[in-house]
Amino acid sequence: MSTGDEEPQPWSIVSGWTGNCRSRSRLIRCSSIDDLRTSIQQPGRWLPRGAGCSYGDAAILEEGRLVLLDHEAIDEQKQPASGSVTVSAAVTLRTLLPALATRGLTLPVVPGVLDATIGGIVAADAHGKNHLTRGSIRDVTDSLRLMLPSGDLIDCDRSDGTDLFEATIGGMGLTGMITEATLQVIPLLARTVRVEQIATSDLESSLNQLRLLSQHHEHVAAWLDPTPRGAAFGRGIVVAGSPYLEHQQSQMAHPSNWELTPGSTLPPLVASLLTPVGISCHNTLRHLRARFWRGTSTWKLDRLLFPLERWKNWKQIYKPAGFHQHQSLVPAAVCDVVIRKLLEMSVSGGCPPTLVVLKMMRGGSGWLSFPDEGMTLSMDFRSEEGTVDLLRQLDERVAQEQGRVYLAKDSTLTPELFRAMYPDLGRFQKLRQQFDPQQKLNSELSLRLKI
Ligand SMILES: Cc1cc2nc3c(=O)[nH]c(=O)nc-3n(C[C@H](O)[C@H](O)[C@H](O)COP(=O)(O)OP(=O)(O)OC[C@H]3O[C@@H](n4cnc5c(N)ncnc54)[C@H](O)[C@@H]3O)c2cc1C
Repeated sequence: MSTGDEEPQPWSIVSGWTGNCRSRSRLIRCSSIDDLRTSIQQPGRWLPRGAGCSYGDAAILEEGRLVLLDHEAIDEQKQPASGSVTVSAAVTLRTLLPALATRGLTLPVVPGVLDATIGGIVAADAHGKNHLTRGSIRDVTDSLRLMLPSGDLIDCDRSDGTDLFEATIGGMGLTGMITEATLQVIPLLARTVRVEQIATSDLESSLNQLRLLSQHHEHVAAWLDPTPRGAAFGRGIVVAGSPYLEHQQSQMAHPSNWELTPGSTLPPLVASLLTPVGISCHNTLRHLRARFWRGTSTWKLDRLLFPLERWKNWKQIYKPAGFHQHQSLVPAAVCDVVIRKLLEMSVSGGCPPTLVVLKMMRGGSGWLSFPDEGMTLSMDFRSEEGTVDLLRQLDERVAQEQGRVYLAKDSTLTPELFRAMYPDLGRFQKLRQQFDPQQKLNSELSLRLKI
């Protein structure tokens, strides 16, 4: 146990996932609740950190302590007769999903990254490709154990009346350190899934197919190509599968057997394709391939849920400059017009986006949570001169349309636009003031956006 009298941890340079935002911070690893209490009660500013998979500055803090939990426990006593499982917030999906699979179970909602921790996923109120049917992590979280900035350890759930549960899910670590979460689990029916792939000829048909396939399938996402001019602008590939639905039952997985497929290495040559011509050629080939291989095929489940994990070094191709992702929610009423506009803006600068993905969302709740009814558009951009200006223009356009930007991906919003996008900010600030009057808990994101 830490007594608090040890030598301070040395300073480290810590970054967000994309490498664009960095801070000089002390990384404090805590292996017990007492350790955690001691370290957050030290003088100075601190922030919970998970695996650092948030893209921008949500998990960094200049001249502050980034506090991590070391304890990857899955509570054997509270296992699933009740349909839920209690796990340490430090557990990653990479550890948890195979462990649940040995009991024939899985999580109904997962983001597309295996290294994220449960604490980080809850703090971002993450969503998967099945938001329309299952909602976000909020919808499958039964209760949380939270260490408040005071050092008090409390349990909270939907009915506790303190608002802490509501604010903590999606609260980006600013209400305290989540130490444990009780999450709903569902049967893992199969390790493979029948996947339908449809190549679309233009933006209108991409949006229509996305809507259509979402009526019959649980996991649906569209990859879009904004590089062609004229009629083919916004063509794409819509991918859909329903691994958790009853009709898959005939493929029932052996309960002890969900090995995640190890990622392959992308050849370094791929980095040289990150030019307007390279991206356009890659997109054309990808689309062509999907046109010929359209139809239904069987995929491993992790390929559908975690497509980027196929390449273990994919983000290295952006080195040394790094990259940005702009992920926005476009309200349902204006999707067709606004998504076209955002895509047009995305190709108006130097280099077009390297990856564009569109998913559908249903209504959400929560004070700083991202999901709401509409579509969510994610666009990856190589970092270069002009990228940040473009992201700011996209932010403005999204705000004008009453949409919002996802805080787990953001690095460019201003406090004014943020306030317009998240109308419950005032409530959140009041709650923070109540539980952390000295404002010791901060992130570079919270300081930038004046949360
Ligand atoms: C390749 C890739 C794909 C992704 N796909 C999706 C997706 O499909 N859907 C989606 O919603 N998101 C997606 N994300 C984003 C990711 O789910 C979130 O950024 C998530 O927060 C990462 O978890 P983490 O453990 O890395 O948290 P970090 O990045 O370390 O922290 C994120 C935030 O959570 C807070 N936090 C971390 N741990 C705790 C804790 N124990 N208690 C309180 N607060 C805590 C931090 O303070 C910070 O504000 C993706 C990210 C990557 C890299």
